[in-house]
Amino acid sequence: MLTTAIYPGTFNPITNGHVDIIQRAHKLFDRVIICVAMSARKDPFLTMEERLDLVREVAAEYRNVSVLPLQGLLVDFARAEQATCILRGLRAVADFEYEFQLAGMNRQMYPALETLFLTAAESTTHISATIVREIYTLGGDISLFVPGVVARYLKGRT
Ligand code: ADP
Repeated sequence: MLTTAIYPGTFNPITNGHVDIIQRAHKLFDRVIICVAMSARKDPFLTMEERLDLVREVAAEYRNVSVLPLQGLLVDFARAEQATCILRGLRAVADFEYEFQLAGMNRQMYPALETLFLTAAESTTHISATIVREIYTLGGDISLFVPGVVARYLKGRT
């Protein structure tokens, strides 16, 4: 049976931290679906279409990675795609509490679906899309933290 993992997030925008997780995850599974979620709680910085386009450009080099928008519940999406696991990245202790709750609630809704955590690489552990947005909004250089395609897109937007 093919192993399918889902990597969900808002990717607002996709950062080098996300890319590191994708680079490592695509070797572990037959198929990885990057699932771009609505951003109800986070500021709308990039639209769903912009986020999807940028994630697609970054993921294009991986043959077994696809990118889809998330509509509805992640567990329903996972069931429909016959995914066996959800992948999440863990940066610091601050991520843990929320991730632990999310994994527990998803498990209660869909016990066969496992949540797996990859710890962030030392070189990207400090990178957060929220802070990238702040730096960008204040006129700072974000090219250290995001893939070239994202930096160029955002530069062209100002
Ligand atoms: P953020 O939390 O930065 O707004 P997302 O909501 O898009 O990003 O997060 C999607 C997933 O990627 C989450 O599991 C998150 O913990 C993980 N992630 C985000 N940034 C990094 C990073 N620098 N290194 C590893 N994982 C990360």
